[in-house]
Amino acid sequence: MASKDFPAVEGSVHVPGDEGYDAELAGFNTAYTHRPAVVVAARSAEDVRAAVTYAREHRLSVAVQATGHGLSVANEGGVLVVTRGLDGVRIDVGARTAWIGAGVTWGRVIEEAARFGLAPLSGSFPGVGAVAYTLGGGIGVLAREFGYAADHLKAAEIVTADGEVRTVDAAGDPELLWALRGAGHNFGVVTAIEVGLVPVEQIYGGQLVFDGEHAEELIRTWTAWTRTVPETVSSGIGFVAYPDLPMLPELLRGRYVATVSVAFDGPAEEGERLVAPLRAVAPPLKDGLREMPYTDSAEIYSDPPAPHAYSATNVLLAGIDEDALAGVVKAGGPDADIMCVLNVRHLGGALARMPQDGGGSALGHRDAQYLVQLITPVAGNASLAVARSVQQDLRTALAARTLGCALPFEFGDGERATEAQTRRGYTPGDYARLARLKARLDPANLFRHNRNIVPATG
Ligand SMILES: Cc1cc2nc3c(=O)[nH]c(=O)nc-3n(C[C@H](O)[C@H](O)[C@H](O)COP(=O)(O)OP(=O)(O)OC[C@H]3O[C@@H](n4cnc5c(N)ncnc54)[C@H](O)[C@@H]3O)c2cc1C
Repeated sequence: MASKDFPAVEGSVHVPGDEGYDAELAGFNTAYTHRPAVVVAARSAEDVRAAVTYAREHRLSVAVQATGHGLSVANEGGVLVVTRGLDGVRIDVGARTAWIGAGVTWGRVIEEAARFGLAPLSGSFPGVGAVAYTLGGGIGVLAREFGYAADHLKAAEIVTADGEVRTVDAAGDPELLWALRGAGHNFGVVTAIEVGLVPVEQIYGGQLVFDGEHAEELIRTWTAWTRTVPETVSSGIGFVAYPDLPMLPELLRGRYVATVSVAFDGPAEEGERLVAPLRAVAPPLKDGLREMPYTDSAEIYSDPPAPHAYSATNVLLAGIDEDALAGVVKAGGPDADIMCVLNVRHLGGALARMPQDGGGSALGHRDAQYLVQLITPVAGNASLAVARSVQQDLRTALAARTLGCALPFEFGDGERATEAQTRRGYTPGDYARLARLKARLDPANLFRHNRNIVPATG
């Protein structure tokens, strides 16, 4: 049964107690779930327009969900637009662009683009939604070579708080395009985006897995190595003390491991030469480095594929203090009070440069050299409290060189999410500019179930 006064839509409308209501809410991060008064499973921009108009008229807030990988603030009692039904992908081979519907995951775009020898600037996990990833920034597998995915956003179709369906591009609305490049969850429901693709078919890369006893040596070797590699090399290191659970692969079960993930856009022989210092750290438990089609790029970070409950924080660092990092990694190791997944990504390269077209991008902190992320699987409020405490310890330990954070890698604060946290994602000048635009386009803050930019006053 749909809400009685909701207009007819191409998709479907659900209210609590309906068949289908709970299924529409299900997302990848099971720690948080929206509990809206109305769910609109949209199949067109017109459906989204109907949802936003209904919300405005009933003074309800609007949240959006594609896959639920990045849910940060759940919507209780408002309207939820589920975008899974906006599932179109079109590749323009000549222009090297993709037009991507709001419900499409990177896996689809990777497959479609590969048919033409092209690749999107996708991230570690193909199950992530391409649109929200791009609107939040998007640090991809080849990020140092090509920069943020958001920097390659050319146009977007968006339903704004006034219920208008707008097409945004550099010629028509450069200010909104600037904002959608990195702060794009705040200005409406984006129904589709147009992004640039890159001519990449094969890469050299994958993952080396070491026993965790080599963690400190890996930190020092990898950090020194990142100072020498060209922009065509993007990489990260990770540290996890796995529990002894039957669903885990034999190699990882009950073991503390250190990993290095590498993606090199260049010939395999050159790749082999480049990674030699990493292979020399210790005999790896698993050596997955190889020449691979971009369609296999999920192997590089090997993210867990099944939905689960997690909370996470991160810091963007101007440079790395190896001793401080080694301390953080040790604190998150097998003796930690909660299971910790610690990842460090090498930034710089093209990420450091503002896009020259379309008026730039709302993503600042361009001088960040590394991103350190701490993910903690959680089960209930007690473990959430422990997770928050270890996250705070990480922020404190690395504060000396911290510039801010990458908001897409902050997962789940629920009602505790604050404006101060959102501000960490932007430079003060950019945040003020975003808040002014928010006041113009969404003065009632209809779209606030996100890393919220509070409308400027006065
Ligand atoms: C396993 C994993 C791997 C990841 N890897 C990377 C990576 O390599 N690089 C990287 O940069 N990030 C990465 N991320 C972060 C990811 O990019 C963000 O969490 C992203 O927002 C997820 O988008 P989604 O559509 O999958 O999730 P959702 O939870 O559905 O959406 C996330 C949020 O985006 C907003 N939103 C969603 N759709 C729209 C829309 N159409 N219009 C406006 N706002 C919208 C909503 O506020 C929503 O809460 C990863 C996350 C996970 C969990």
